[in-house]
Order: sequence, then C-alpha cells, then structure tokens
Amino acid sequence: MTFNPDSKLDSGKVSKRGRNAAIGGGSAIVVVGLVILSQLVGFDLTGLAGLTGSDQSASQPDQSLECSTGADANSNVDCLIVGAANSLDVYWVGESPQLQVDYRTPSVILFDGSTSTGCGQASSATGPFYCPPDKTIYIDTSFFDELRTRFGASGGTLSEMYVVAHEWGHHIQQLSGILSNTDHSLTGPASDSVRTELQADCLAGAWVGAASTIEDENGVTFLEPVTDAQIADALNAASVIGDDRIQQQSGGGVDPESWTHGSSESRQKWFQAGLSLGTGACDTFAVSAAQL
Ligand SMILES: [Zn+2]
Repeated sequence: MTFNPDSKLDSGKVSKRGRNAAIGGGSAIVVVGLVILSQLVGFDLTGLAGLTGSDQSASQPDQSLECSTGADANSNVDCLIVGAANSLDVYWVGESPQLQVDYRTPSVILFDGSTSTGCGQASSATGPFYCPPDKTIYIDTSFFDELRTRFGASGGTLSEMYVVAHEWGHHIQQLSGILSNTDHSLTGPASDSVRTELQADCLAGAWVGAASTIEDENGVTFLEPVTDAQIADALNAASVIGDDRIQQQSGGGVDPESWTHGSSESRQKWFQAGLSLGTGACDTFAVSAAQL
C-alpha cells in the first residue's frame, strides 16, 4: 500500500529507541534467538516466553521520529510504521464501539538490537510482539528483512504494515479482555493460542479492507487503494509464518500439536475473512476446529 503523499502524519504515535550499548554478548543472543526462533516468530504476543525476566540494563531514551507526511512514509521504513499507526489508530477509534472496546491508543516502540520491555528483555530475534502489561507494540524493523531473507516472503510495504496491524489486533484483544480470558498455555491447531493469533490476523485484514477510506485530520486519506499485488504480498507473508511452513523450513516434521499461531492456510484464510467482511467476521473463538 502506498501513502497519499499529502496526508498528514502525527509522528508522536511511534517512538524509536537507540541501540543499547550496555548489552554485550551479541552473538550469544543471536544463537539463543535462532534456536527459539521457530517458536517465536509470527508477530507474537507469546514471544514473551522467549524474553528474560531480568531488566538489568537501561535502554537509551525514546526518541520521536520525524515523519510528517505520507511522502515520508513512502520513503522510509520507520515513517511507514508511523503512517500505519496513524491509520490504524483512526480505524480503531471508529471500530471499537461496535466491539464494545473502550479504546486507547497503544504505544509503539521501534528498537534496534535489544531493549527492556514490560515483558522482560527483548532482542531482534524475538520478532515483533505486543506486550500486554505495558500495552506496547515492540518492533525491530530488521525483522522485515528477515521476512524476506529467512522466510522467503515476497516483501512489500503491505506485508510490513500487516505486521503492525496484527500486533494492533492483539492490543484490541487486550482491551476487550480476550487475552486475559483465554488460555495461552496450551498449543495445537484449535487451541486458544491459535484462535487468538488467527483473530489478530483477521483484525489486521479488516483494517486493510478499510484502509483506503481512513482519513487524516484534514480529510485526506492516508492510503491509496490497495492493489491485488499488495494483497498477494500480505497473504504470502501470512503463509510463510504459518506454523506448518516454519516447521517444514526448519527441517523438522510438521507437529500440529505444538502450533501456537496456526497453519499457513488458516492464517491466509482469516486475514482474507477480515479483509472481505470486516471485524464482524473475526470471531475465531466461535467456530469449530474444522472451520479454523
Ligand atoms: Zn500474534
């Protein structure tokens, strides 16, 4: 998706945290990360399992980004996140009353390398995630490169914004009580964990479906209409981070009982359900296992 160059962005919706020089042993972090990556990647709120509880080193202070227009979002990946956050925020202000959600804007923090969070220490190997205790989305934008190089995704800006929209979906789930009312200790193709993740995919799709109508404060739409090629990129991203695909890629057998995010097919299906039908189609907890 491409931003309307004249749309006006509020860069205060996203902050950026510099590399934490206090953290040594980068190679050790990477090694651990690669071992756990297959369980964690996939825009994860439960990537929290991979975070350490200690919070011993202070991160650099957060900086605001200088992204004031859609043109900035089209030319810079940090500003692309700012643009997505602006559009998502307006979308969810409008959509939340139907879902009986008392909406508040989440924090979004971009980081590089490693950072302290309300859920423990995160590294770039953790993958993007939502931290419920501090209601913050954490994204290391190097993950977008990894989506292409490691997972073989076709890339594109919509697949990057899908990551942001999926994490925003987890925030909506937190506000609505879904995260606290479901059991994330279990895995498997019809587990609450998978239903939660597929719902976040559906909520992301719902935003994409509406995105070309969402306007800035001056009535200028943030995003131009989405193209079929861009939808294909987002579906491709959803498919490469399906649990079965990740298990196949890592050379192991496919073990549905260990799934936390859902199959490639399910992730694409629910993204598409949201895209075509909106948030009303996103009750992944109401359907049978066969319908997931
Ligand atoms: Zn997720």
